[in-house]
Amino acid sequence: MKVASHPETRPSRVSRRPQQLGTSRRGWEQALEEMGIARYRAGQIMKWIYHRDVLDFESMTDLRKDLRSRLSRNFEARTLRIGHEAISRDGTRKWLFHLDESNSVESVYIPDPPRGTLCVSSQVGCALNCSFCATARQGFNRNLDTAEIVGQLHAARARLLDAPPSTPAISNVVFMGMGEPLLNFENVVNALEIMLDDCAFGLAAKRVTLSTAGVVPGIRKLKERCPVSLAVSLHAPDDDLRDELVPLNRTYPIGELLEACREYLRGLPRERITFEYAMLDRINDSPVHARLLARRLRGIPAKVNLIPFNSFDGSGYRRSRVESVEAFRNILLAEGLMTITRRTRGADIDAACGQLAGRVLPRSRRMRKLRAADGSTPPGHVPGP
Ligand code: SAH
Repeated sequence: MKVASHPETRPSRVSRRPQQLGTSRRGWEQALEEMGIARYRAGQIMKWIYHRDVLDFESMTDLRKDLRSRLSRNFEARTLRIGHEAISRDGTRKWLFHLDESNSVESVYIPDPPRGTLCVSSQVGCALNCSFCATARQGFNRNLDTAEIVGQLHAARARLLDAPPSTPAISNVVFMGMGEPLLNFENVVNALEIMLDDCAFGLAAKRVTLSTAGVVPGIRKLKERCPVSLAVSLHAPDDDLRDELVPLNRTYPIGELLEACREYLRGLPRERITFEYAMLDRINDSPVHARLLARRLRGIPAKVNLIPFNSFDGSGYRRSRVESVEAFRNILLAEGLMTITRRTRGADIDAACGQLAGRVLPRSRRMRKLRAADGSTPPGHVPGP
């Protein structure tokens, strides 16, 4: 796979003015400076937007009147609109956001008191083509811009204000929705900076997790720019199997990936990397796989997250048997690896791992081929309004 050709730098859409929700502290400071306005106003403006939920500059009463109208002319105050909401029996909520006429993404809110976790998307579709993931089936359409990533958190937080009082506020964010966040690097890092900024969402870096299929150069850059918690979708302990499940492995094999993980943790003594492992019946779930996995992770401060495979039509895989998962876990535990089996949440509303699909108009050639092949809509396809 030629990763260099991924559209990392392609503008995600034609935008006339910078957007409020897409502007980080540095962005505001720069823009204000260009307008001849003191940089310290950046924090003041961000607090209006994120702490008081005021996006209309005219209502930011501690700014001079002429400044307010100049800002109104220069920035766009667009927010994301929730297109559809589904609420699971377990309290998990899934939202569909319409980004433009042809693109939608999904975000999932998972309550686990006292925590509330929001799972956000970073791309419409995904280019990585992991063999067991529903998102992969719809092809890749475009990157989300910063405002669209931050917009998911902004809209979710607002929506939860109407939820029952026992609903925990969003304390954690995970980039485990649609897309590969490290292939949309600049927009994702900008969004992370806004999520962590005390004048915006003020989340602690360890409560924000970026999950990657293993884009090694991206892991290195992330360490320099914004070292949040890292999760790596491993799914296999050897290259032959991983090449098949996660084709990106042909570009960045396991040895290189684990080396990047070790480097990521250097100087972060209390941190661990989460390794995600979808349990696929008789594919990657034997005791031999478990022992090999434990051997490969030796010496890396790690946490292994076993994810029961979430099935979808035509996936060609089955979920591992409960006994296999249990045996796998026991081997890892005996080897001293912190291991948890992730509870499946929101499966009744198709909100579980790998089930997010959003809506991508059938533009990509791959998708047309797929549809022609089985004569159906892609798995997990969410009908539009
Ligand atoms: N592209 C990033 C972000 C997506 S995270 C990454 O790969 O990490 C979504 C997680 O769910 C990943 O670990 C992914 O491998 C896993 N996943 C995908 N499809 C799944 C499925 N059908 N069942 C269980 N887990 C799945």
